[in-house]
Amino acid sequence: MTQAASPFSLAGARALVTGANTGIGQGIAVALAGAGAEVLAVGRSAMDETVALITAAGGVCHAIRCDLADSAARAGLISEAMARFGPLDILVNNAGIIRRADALDFTEQDWDDVMDVNLKAVFFLAQAFARQALAAKRPGKIINIASMLSFQGGIRVASYTASKGGVAGITRLLACEWAAKGINVNAIAPGYIVSNNTGALRADPDRSAAILARIPAAGWGAPDDIGGAAVFLASKAARYVHGAILPVDGGWLAR
Ligand code: NAP
Repeated sequence: MTQAASPFSLAGARALVTGANTGIGQGIAVALAGAGAEVLAVGRSAMDETVALITAAGGVCHAIRCDLADSAARAGLISEAMARFGPLDILVNNAGIIRRADALDFTEQDWDDVMDVNLKAVFFLAQAFARQALAAKRPGKIINIASMLSFQGGIRVASYTASKGGVAGITRLLACEWAAKGINVNAIAPGYIVSNNTGALRADPDRSAAILARIPAAGWGAPDDIGGAAVFLASKAARYVHGAILPVDGGWLAR
């Protein structure tokens, strides 16, 4: 079978990935490009490394600057990206932040900042993507990045846990509303992955050892580990997958 004939091929598809300059977003962008998608790499930082990785492998990647905490900027993101590069087939809502403090000390600012990027931006980008896709009668794939804290409580990360519980909820809600209209909405729940997001945890010897001891795969995951799941959910092979929260966690939840 040629690559284009494979149900996992993304040849001819165009994917927008938020937070694609580093970590899991970069791993997803590189994997989608490797499966044949043209990638629009979105974020508030330069995308040079991601563009270079994808280009070196023979793929196509365009960088778009957007601070997703800026509601005016994110409101125009999808339509401006489509005006510049053409219709979108895949949206990956990956960008996210975390703030750590005891619940007793947690500030309203740390609540609002995290909810804004991790949950509000996810919903309104999905809405903008779906409005365009439905108006054009095009199928679409939305992949949200959830977390183990979509299932568990966590500790010292109140707004992050609230936001990722919310991501799981709206993934299911949007799947219920849009599955019959040709849009697949699903989420990936990464386990403990080496990235900037988990730098503080990995630097804490007690937390780091406790986490590692519970992972059946006996190691932290890499951003590339999330890429394969994203390719599957973005592909025709996932035609009948709707509203799933797919753990990619080295077995953490099975423990
Ligand atoms: P990361 O390396 O810190 O990446 C976060 C990405 O989000 C970066 O590209 C960051 O851009 C971008 N971002 C943050 N705020 C933004 C804003 N206002 N506008 C635009 N982009 C913004 O962490 P990561 O681990 O790869 O995280 C990616 C996603 O996976 C997040 O949703 C995170 O919650 C989730 N996740 C991670 C883990 C893990 O173990 N690492 C586990 C479960 C879920 P800058 O580089 O410019 O800050």
